Amino acid sequence: MRDLETRQYIGGEFVVGDAESIVVVNPANDAVIASISGASATLAMRAAEANSQAARDMKALPLLKRAELVRRLALGIRMDAARLASILTLESGKPILESRGEVEYAASFFENAAAAAEMATGELPASRMSDRRVLVLREPIGATVAITPWNFPLAMIARKFAPALAAGCSQVVKPAEETPLAALAFASIFEHCAHEVGAPAAAFSVVVGDPPTVAQALIAHPSTRKLSFTGSTEVGRILAAQCAPRLLKTALELGGNAPFLVFADSDIDRAVEQAMLSKFRFMGQTCICANRFLLEQSVAEEFLARLEVRVRALANMIGDPTLEFTRMGPLINDAAIEKVESHVADAVAHGAQLRVGGRRAEVAGLSRRFYEPTILSNCDPTMRCSREETFGPVVAAMTFHSESEAITMANAVPYGLAGYVMTQDADRLLRVAEALDFGVIGANDGAPSTAEAPFGGRKDSGLGKEGGTHGLDAYTDLKYVSLRVRNC
Ligand code: ADP
Repeated sequence: MRDLETRQYIGGEFVVGDAESIVVVNPANDAVIASISGASATLAMRAAEANSQAARDMKALPLLKRAELVRRLALGIRMDAARLASILTLESGKPILESRGEVEYAASFFENAAAAAEMATGELPASRMSDRRVLVLREPIGATVAITPWNFPLAMIARKFAPALAAGCSQVVKPAEETPLAALAFASIFEHCAHEVGAPAAAFSVVVGDPPTVAQALIAHPSTRKLSFTGSTEVGRILAAQCAPRLLKTALELGGNAPFLVFADSDIDRAVEQAMLSKFRFMGQTCICANRFLLEQSVAEEFLARLEVRVRALANMIGDPTLEFTRMGPLINDAAIEKVESHVADAVAHGAQLRVGGRRAEVAGLSRRFYEPTILSNCDPTMRCSREETFGPVVAAMTFHSESEAITMANAVPYGLAGYVMTQDADRLLRVAEALDFGVIGANDGAPSTAEAPFGGRKDSGLGKEGGTHGLDAYTDLKYVSLRVRNC
């Protein structure tokens, strides 16, 4: 692809990296898309220093100017939507239709953050003393760092950077090594928009390099005030430990193990529709994808039979992710597909029934990372597909007999990101939504992510909220001014 930006974006300019190259490979066909000279610790420190200066410049920028820039970025993303979507598909293997959706999703975070910033107000709490007033001021927290994953290379940057910028902060992003090209393409949009609006072009940086080296340099800089991370629980723990001595604010959006509850009183067709959305988006590689299907015994067979029809149809839409009709592309890398294979093998060895799929799909001329959409029934909570996040196109189904059993099974994992409940009974819908120990609940909704909602998990799924007005709060510090007023 022509016009790919492969330089680092640091301190408002594009610079060539000074460390080992990072080779970006198309997971669909193993073609090398680009080679990026990585950033050394020294270059990462330079980015942190520029981020620190930019935080001061951003704080001085009037709110209306900030909001203008944030809105301009939403427009900039939309104007470049076709190119961004192509890059997303090339580097991640995401079907082009979904990549277009991700681009629009990314733009929506900028719109949302601008609106939230414009509406944000301070406070003047009623005073308990006649000669005192307390003014509560909102201030940006300063220089921030984001580390983002490969499954939403653009939208995860948007979810972190849009509220940071709208709140008046600067941010350095370290994208995943698998998918740095969308981040760099966005950097060129940012540079253009910042100059057009007259805002600091150093308020955003992208540093691509060895993850621990870059992360440590960014976290260690004395001006860094916050780390926002989306990725695995394992790496989240490492990063939280690195942030602790510096008492950095942290937002950690980590792994999940989402339950998908189907009650006998659900509209089965609707439940199947939402299951397809929840399970097979990006071939099951999103952190809120349903991982465990808990089905009420009396409707389990009916649900699975109807789901099977849809899954068999989906298997005909495996193919080159750049093509319009494709709904399933390759998994991100060999480790990902091997994990899926091992989960399916483990389940079958322990008594699960393979109803459909369960093997790699051959796609002429393309890589060996395509996996057939799969349904396993008769699963139980001890199997790997129930205990761990499969992160692939596998439905692992098991049954329950009562609402309380379903809730107990759903909550019996260390994770708490997303949970789903399918029922037509309004009382049950609310009861179960309240009982599920997860940060995001899809109630008859298989795709609950949206820019205006406070996204985030509980337990081993992390801490902090991103999106909506709470996303802005996460980059805002409150200060109060206690004012003595002389009474005449
Ligand atoms: P996944 O398993 O989905 O790739 P990871 O947690 O490994 O999730 O990766 C998410 C992000 O964290 C990526 O940007 C990756 O480069 C980064 N990362 C991985 N390991 C480390 C580390 N030790 N220190 C800092 N960042 C890391």
